Amino acid sequence: MIEKKQQLIEGAIKAFEMLYAKDKTVTPEDGLVWAMEDLGAPDYTHEEYESLVHSVNSACLLKGIWSLAPNNAPYEYLPVAVLDAVYGDFSACEGKWKGISESQYNVFLTALCCVVKKPEEDVIREANELTAAGKVLSIPIGYIRKTTDEKKCPKCGASIFGIGALSRIDNKTVICSDCGTTEALEDYGGCIQ
Ligand SMILES: [Zn+2]
Repeated sequence: MIEKKQQLIEGAIKAFEMLYAKDKTVTPEDGLVWAMEDLGAPDYTHEEYESLVHSVNSACLLKGIWSLAPNNAPYEYLPVAVLDAVYGDFSACEGKWKGISESQYNVFLTALCCVVKKPEEDVIREANELTAAGKVLSIPIGYIRKTTDEKKCPKCGASIFGIGALSRIDNKTVICSDCGTTEALEDYGGCIQ
């Protein structure tokens, strides 16, 4: 059973690559449908099928072969390795975020649901609230945020709405209000030590 699923996932990725080369509107799920017809598939329940779709979507995203990423992509994604390479400096990563579509964003959220021990609808609701507020969401393989034209916080990559806050470190860098609060608290903590 597991072997069959693995075979279908691999078949779906190959089929998707082939179909996608000719038609950019094809999704990994189309590749899966193709693979299921080609390789034959047992009668999966709706849940089993959805989990297969999720696996295929994730695999195609991670392999970097699914990047419809239109120029006006509603969301952006930063792989964890890119941020690690610059020692967690978000300001060095501006320009390296990749646009992702709504459906890719949802695939990433399902990845988050797998690691956060909370009901799925709560995780998704909270994640959507955070991204709608311009904040950066940390997921197991990287970071996602809503695409905006606002200036980005150099400390956390979030959109700075309004005037933001002045960093206490140099008194001139504009950071987001959340990071401003964190710095203020750190400062306060330093005083009472
Ligand atoms: Zn920030």
